[in-house]
Amino acid sequence: MSVVTLDHVERQIARGFRLLRFSPDLEARFSKDYAATRVRLSVIWGIIGTLIYDLVYFGDRTMVPDVFDDMVKARFLVFTPFVIGCILAVRRWPNALLYDLLSIAIAVLGVTLPMAVATDSSSHYLFVYQNGNSAAFLFFVIALRPRFPAILAGLTLMCASHFAITHLTGAFDDVTYSGIVTFYLTLSIFLAVSAYFLERTDRQNFLNQLRGSLLYSRLELNAEHDELTGLLNRRSLARISEMLWHEAGRPSTISAILLDIDHFKLFNDFHGHIEGDACIRAVSQCIRETADEASFVFRFGGEEILVLSAGRGPLQALAMAERIRTAIERRDIRHRGLGDGRVTASLGVASASPVEITFEKLLQDADKALYEAKRMGRNTVALAPRPEPGTRVA
Ligand code: GH3
Ligand code: MG
Ligand code: MG
Repeated sequence: MSVVTLDHVERQIARGFRLLRFSPDLEARFSKDYAATRVRLSVIWGIIGTLIYDLVYFGDRTMVPDVFDDMVKARFLVFTPFVIGCILAVRRWPNALLYDLLSIAIAVLGVTLPMAVATDSSSHYLFVYQNGNSAAFLFFVIALRPRFPAILAGLTLMCASHFAITHLTGAFDDVTYSGIVTFYLTLSIFLAVSAYFLERTDRQNFLNQLRGSLLYSRLELNAEHDELTGLLNRRSLARISEMLWHEAGRPSTISAILLDIDHFKLFNDFHGHIEGDACIRAVSQCIRETADEASFVFRFGGEEILVLSAGRGPLQALAMAERIRTAIERRDIRHRGLGDGRVTASLGVASASPVEITFEKLLQDADKALYEAKRMGRNTVALAPRPEPGTRVA
């Protein structure tokens, strides 16, 4: 399933969905949610519905006593096992289409079975008996609640089956029969219209909820990421450094690589701030692609970037810094302020264990090493000396 974005949802809200259909990606997401909720409820409705259906057994005894034995078989040996099978099937394959099809099957079978058996009865109460089918119509639309096309198909098949079988009984005169037809058609139209509006509300709620959760994720992302580069921002540094410092295994080493683009003021002077921004973005992307997967990359300041990684010793961190430096050089971003020069960066590396120094001290060490790299002529990497043995954090 492809990713659904906030734009997708807002476009769908603006376009509307009068035909009860979303764009393909949203429709797939809606169907998945729909199947999950309906399948969750299917056990409850299955038990309640079947229990009520089977309790009509008492009605069979009084209203159609001459076919009572067949009614018992139809209710307990055919309908009940069929419903149990359907519940097991949708739980095994929680799929929207399967749920809709089985709902239709349950509704049609529920209406057809007792009336089919009742065709053999000579009871005077057949008119009252067939009225019970209105409960099956209501149950199908209000409790099972399949999607609208399934409701239309189900109501049509239920009416067709009910009309055909009541006609076959020959127990109703023409006036009574046309009364039955009118009643069930009217009931079906009311149910279909309300099912349409119910599904519209369901879909509207689905879109609103999805929009809310996507907005929330975007807010969370914006709060922790820098807008220009997409890297983590200073605000997230506090949280992540705390996590690395206090939650990583204490003897583990944490490395900080602080990077600063060389002669960047000059770059801005020659290329302008817009190109300056694009250069910061390109360098950031280069670092993200080159730094180890498990490291955290922050926009530390204007054109300063910090890479933090846990479990790496100073030599591994130095090697990563060197890879980053080379990758930026190889990006080959023209720097007219340096004649025919290219954009480069200087990097300072410091490594320590949380038991040796504080996080602030680690950053200071990386900053000093960066200063040293600048002093050595830029486009280079410098490593801070390891903290003195015995330096302890209070
Ligand atoms: P050095 O090699 O010593 O680092 O020289 P430098 O010119 O790069 O000096 P410094 O690092 O102090 O300069 C940073 C410049 O980066 C200053 C500022 O104009 C520019 N800058 C900071 N943030 C941004 C930004 O978001 N966009 C752009 N275009 N420029 C920025
Ligand atoms: Mg700087
Ligand atoms: Mg600089």
